[in-house]
Amino acid sequence: PATAADREVRTPLPVLGRDVSVPLVTGGEVTYAALDYAASAPALQRVWDDVAAYAPYYGSVHRGAGYLSQLSTDLFEQSRATVAEFLGCRPDDEVIFTRSTTDSLNLLAAALPAGTQIFVFETEHHASLLPWARGEDARVTWLPAPRTPEQAVAQLDVALHGAPKGPKLVCVTGASNVTGEIWPVRKLAAAAHRHGARIVLDAAQLVPHHAVDIAALDVDWVAFSGHKLYAPFGAGVLAGRPDWLREAEPYLAGGGATRKVTRTADGGLDVVWHEAVAARHEAGSPNVIGAYAIASACRALSEAGFDRLVARERQLLAELREGLAALPEVRVLSLFGADSARVGVLSFVVQGWNSSHFAAALSAEYGIGVRDGLFCAHPLVRTLLDSEPDEPGECGAPDAAPGERSLNAIRVSFGAGTPDEHIARFLAAVT
Ligand code: PMP
Repeated sequence: PATAADREVRTPLPVLGRDVSVPLVTGGEVTYAALDYAASAPALQRVWDDVAAYAPYYGSVHRGAGYLSQLSTDLFEQSRATVAEFLGCRPDDEVIFTRSTTDSLNLLAAALPAGTQIFVFETEHHASLLPWARGEDARVTWLPAPRTPEQAVAQLDVALHGAPKGPKLVCVTGASNVTGEIWPVRKLAAAAHRHGARIVLDAAQLVPHHAVDIAALDVDWVAFSGHKLYAPFGAGVLAGRPDWLREAEPYLAGGGATRKVTRTADGGLDVVWHEAVAARHEAGSPNVIGAYAIASACRALSEAGFDRLVARERQLLAELREGLAALPEVRVLSLFGADSARVGVLSFVVQGWNSSHFAAALSAEYGIGVRDGLFCAHPLVRTLLDSEPDEPGECGAPDAAPGERSLNAIRVSFGAGTPDEHIARFLAAVT
């Protein structure tokens, strides 16, 4: 029998929409089972309550003399401090509020010193794969898909060892949005720094599931999105080293990023940009509610404690994997093999099934929301679908029908709001 402590570990953090009823093709209704947290996690009830309590008081930040404007400015800056604390930032680190992980990584890509060489695994999500490849000057080394975490570190080590002098940046994901596998971030950071390179962590999938400590991981920057961290859409974070960002052109040109703008005698414009990193790269009226919501989520997760959240997630993941392993038609996709550490994200294919039809059937017949496709990580998913199985039930060459390759996959993902029943319903449906 479960002890009180077990029951506590099993108690999910309440999220919005947990009682939403959806229609089934059979004519009945069922409570929606959101198993697509990796795309967007439902906001925590607590976050929504905090935002609702603040809503009557919001005003434009850094602008007005009025009370609400001042209050909002305070809350915006407090939110920045809360995020810095949540990420274990070093004293010099800066937190910039952006729109999303995609926006954060594009910001950093636009701020690189001239001639920076970039090192990226081809397995990255498009948000951490593509921003580096833009511009005529882009010098990117694409590292092939490693098949173990050790191989990833070794590949990076070799690539950096052979690289010419000059600024270098490594971009790596903390946890895959396809396989859920956790990457050896600390070791990759050590390899990067050994060769004088810097490293940015795409923490979009790691930060909702694990404590991310920028100083302990020794990464230079961290990027993540609010909507995957149980806050609503529209705000994200880039946190880390200030120097490159301070020296870079402002990401967006506009109000708030400037200290002084004057017409020159010859009819031109003289612009003095802010040196303060956040102001320099946050032009325009900032999304103060988005920032406040992210800070609220950070506080809620810290208070709940990642140890508890991770323990519960491991248990749900084990149930899920055990249930799927019992089905010979199901192949779970994996880069690093069956024993790799994962967050609550798992992709699979089912022999004889088109993945999109399978996902549609889960929705229509069982009220379960999963995702199908290539998950904005086309090279990775194609590698996984094309490669041979490492072990029974893991990854491999899943045939859609005998002799026919699957073209895409099904992804199930969960988090702090997931009740046991959703996993049980999913397994019953798949079986
Ligand atoms: N990186 C990873 C690993 C992701 O899973 C995602 C979202 N799927 C992103 C980046 C991009 O996040 P956003 O769409 O919020 O910018």
